[in-house]
Amino acid sequence: MHSYAPDSQLNSSVRRIGAGERFDLVGASVWSGSAWVENARMRIVDGRIESVGPIGSSPGADANHPEIGLDGAFLTAGFIDCHVHLTGLDGHDPFRRNIERYSSVRLVRAVRDAGAILRAGFTTVRHLGHGDPNQAEALKQAIDEGLVAGPKMLTSGWALSQTGGHGNLHAWPYSLVEQLRPRSAFCDGPDECRKFVRRILGDGADCIKIYTSEGLVSSPDHLIDIPNFTAAEIEAIVDEAHRRGVRVAAHATGLEGSMLAVQGGVDTLEHGPHDIDDDFLRLMRSSGATLVPTLSVFEWAASSEAGSGVPAFAAERARRWLEGHRRLVAAAAQAGIPIAVGSDSGAPPRGGRNAEEILAIARAGLSPALALAAATNVGAEALGLGGDVGVLAPGARADIVAWSRDPVADIGVVADVSAIRLILQSEGLKKPW
Ligand SMILES: [Zn+2]
Repeated sequence: MHSYAPDSQLNSSVRRIGAGERFDLVGASVWSGSAWVENARMRIVDGRIESVGPIGSSPGADANHPEIGLDGAFLTAGFIDCHVHLTGLDGHDPFRRNIERYSSVRLVRAVRDAGAILRAGFTTVRHLGHGDPNQAEALKQAIDEGLVAGPKMLTSGWALSQTGGHGNLHAWPYSLVEQLRPRSAFCDGPDECRKFVRRILGDGADCIKIYTSEGLVSSPDHLIDIPNFTAAEIEAIVDEAHRRGVRVAAHATGLEGSMLAVQGGVDTLEHGPHDIDDDFLRLMRSSGATLVPTLSVFEWAASSEAGSGVPAFAAERARRWLEGHRRLVAAAAQAGIPIAVGSDSGAPPRGGRNAEEILAIARAGLSPALALAAATNVGAEALGLGGDVGVLAPGARADIVAWSRDPVADIGVVADVSAIRLILQSEGLKKPW
């Protein structure tokens, strides 16, 4: 086990566990998902949890397993952010946001951002497009190789938009949008949609991201209610992905686009509608899809001030939608729909503050235990990584955060980096297929 170099962007509390290492974490309280197991011994072997239980239960101390004392600490699984954009976006200028003279500078920024996200206790993220997929793949590989510090990544390659859909940038000539694909690639018709899924997976992506409605930053307003992609296109995308054991994430903010996506079989609904009805809740419930409400990005945009870089129309729209999004989260929780944490953040000011999403969904009505679950086991299940990450149980990866204060008694602790005593990170990530 080694610390990252002190001159890296990380503090020394982040440790990466290599193959062949065995040790015990001793004396901490361990979150089981529903209760604290106090004064515990957790045995780590080869980067995985071999056993966990109260000290005194088997196994006992053993000279082959050096002990790391964590008296007074509270252990949770490393957090999972199901919706990030690790592509080094810088600000909200409509041109610089999407095109820069030296595009590789984005990868350098992404390295900085990945370190900040790991340092905040997030050990796994799903990157959902924007920017050059090669840069995201390169970052994922560099993190896996231990060259740079960051969370383990699942990547989506290009997001997929219908021609002229949410992948469009309304301030640009459309021919340039098609050529440079700043937000997505474009495909139309079930056959072409299926082909793009094959291409993206051929390029090394782990999941698929599609747009089935416009979004907060799209103008004009009336487009929000017009679904992107037909039912047949969505079904072709989902069918091709699922045949390969790959999950599909759908961005949607309109109700009809959300319903179409879920009816088409997507695995996660990103953002979700702000004007829900009982039919939507019933559909979500019966589909088994997970809601990733990205509430904190709406809160952030709604509270942004002139000059912050958030377009004025988007800030106004966020203020208009915010109560509806909070109602969506509360109603989904009430209906038993799985809710997972996705911050929709990339670069600072929000990148590295991913835990704000945990607080946002807690404020919307989730208990601290449910909010923690949204950041751990529910997120893992949504990504196809259930049992591998997101739980502190035998067989799971030793992706662990040791907190100096109890995050269940005070959920605010999760957003306080100074409350982190230790972050353990296992090497490598089992692909979801
Ligand atoms: Zn996003």
